[in-house]
Amino acid sequence: MTEPIIYELGAPGRCAARLPDLDVPRAELPPAPLLRDDLNLPEVTEGDLMRHYVHLSQMNHGVDVGFYPLGSCTMKYNPKINEDMARLPGLVETHPYQPEETVQGNLRLMYELQEALKAITGFTAVSLQPAAGAHGELAGVLMIRNYHQSRGDTQRTLMLIPDSAHGTNPATTAMAGFEMVELKSDNRGNVDLDDLRAHLSDRVAGMMLTNPNTLGLFDENILEITRLVHEAGGLMYGDGANMNALLGITKPAETGFDVMHLNLHKTFSTPHGGGGPGSGPVGASPALAEFVPGPIVYAEEALIAEDEVDAENGNGNNAADSPSEYHRGTWYSLRMPPQSIGRLKSFYGHFGVMVRAYTYIRMLGAAGLLEVTEAAVLNANYLQVILKEVYPLSYDRTCMHEFVLRGEVEEAPDIRALDISKRLIDYGMHPPTNYFPLIVPEALMIEPTETESKRTLDAFVDAMTKIAEEARTNPELLHEAPHKAPVTRLDEVRAARNLILRWQPDGE
Ligand SMILES: *Cc1c(COP(=O)(O)O)cnc(C)c1O
Repeated sequence: MTEPIIYELGAPGRCAARLPDLDVPRAELPPAPLLRDDLNLPEVTEGDLMRHYVHLSQMNHGVDVGFYPLGSCTMKYNPKINEDMARLPGLVETHPYQPEETVQGNLRLMYELQEALKAITGFTAVSLQPAAGAHGELAGVLMIRNYHQSRGDTQRTLMLIPDSAHGTNPATTAMAGFEMVELKSDNRGNVDLDDLRAHLSDRVAGMMLTNPNTLGLFDENILEITRLVHEAGGLMYGDGANMNALLGITKPAETGFDVMHLNLHKTFSTPHGGGGPGSGPVGASPALAEFVPGPIVYAEEALIAEDEVDAENGNGNNAADSPSEYHRGTWYSLRMPPQSIGRLKSFYGHFGVMVRAYTYIRMLGAAGLLEVTEAAVLNANYLQVILKEVYPLSYDRTCMHEFVLRGEVEEAPDIRALDISKRLIDYGMHPPTNYFPLIVPEALMIEPTETESKRTLDAFVDAMTKIAEEARTNPELLHEAPHKAPVTRLDEVRAARNLILRWQPDGE
């Protein structure tokens, strides 16, 4: 775009801020060798600065700008009340080193979030420590490792993972020191049961399964799979990033999972996509409950001094003038579970994300969460039924919250999924996930989420239908797309090999 970037706008003497007069003694500068005057920092006005950042925000596509059907990422609309709650002074201005009695409200929120996630998933214990989904996977797989080790069962070094799995699953397995064994999918998109049986042995530590899987399909043999793995002495890890399809319908613990992570930043509506922060709590069955990472929040009935409660509520009510006045109440404290795998994160996890997810859950309640899932599944099936007439569908079954088309167009043999995705940008929509899952050629993985209206879904159908037509009549248009974005078609191979991660003045 033509807007000059801020480094080129600067001129000496311009300033975007005015500092107050110095009211403390002037400090000595560090010794000269530690100082430098060759930093090419821009000097700009406040207006220039504002325009720079607003311009950058306009170059980006977000869910507040347009449709964002990025499969497996659950780019639902994030209600803005979540932001208001996360900015409440009593929540945003607390410090992790504050004494327990001054943060009882924060701990109560974390405790109630743990309890809500237990109710949603059916698990016995939940830890809010992990910072993201992949981090929750690592927690869960380390819990499985420690469980087997605590029983002296040390020959279990294999982790079974279906070929439809998210790439983080094999990466987690390797990080935790396990060896991965890949399982085939059958022709309905389920785990191939014969292949599973063939790989079960007393060397299997467990299995990582995403259900519904990344094809958007609920495994029809889930109870048989978890039974077989348990019978062989293994434990079941659930990748719960896709909980959007299950809320209020089924609890993973009841289908035989022993441990699972949730992505608060997907299912529970906290903004993501820019690299963080996220939150990936893990839930565990009774066998693994004591192994969850800590500390977690415990609640117990206690005698509480009135002045402590007043300090916590910050209500300035000094009705109790002596600390000897007590009442019975709930006291919240952070403790390590008995056999915890330990800390995974400094302090207590990403508290701001927890506040947003808690707000979302409390706002919707059980009935609202069920509606979320029903609408997410309905929206995905609506699109699938119409679009399978336009693009090939490898696994033609009722889908859950997402589905995977093949980005192929009859009579347009050199059109690839990438061309279709890039062209969608010209229609003001974010592309679906491309080339994943790996078992579908030219995969276009589409997740509309529950927050889109029928009007938006119909606009997407229109765009996808027009693009298929363009592919036949004017394939160059697709090969060169996007035409309307701030940056047009990139040489992705060169961009990946020759990383340029920041602006540099000419010749530097
Ligand atoms: C997003 C996702 C993950 C990883 O979550 P992060 O928070 O990005 O680490 C894992 N599995 C599945 C199926 C996902 O969709």
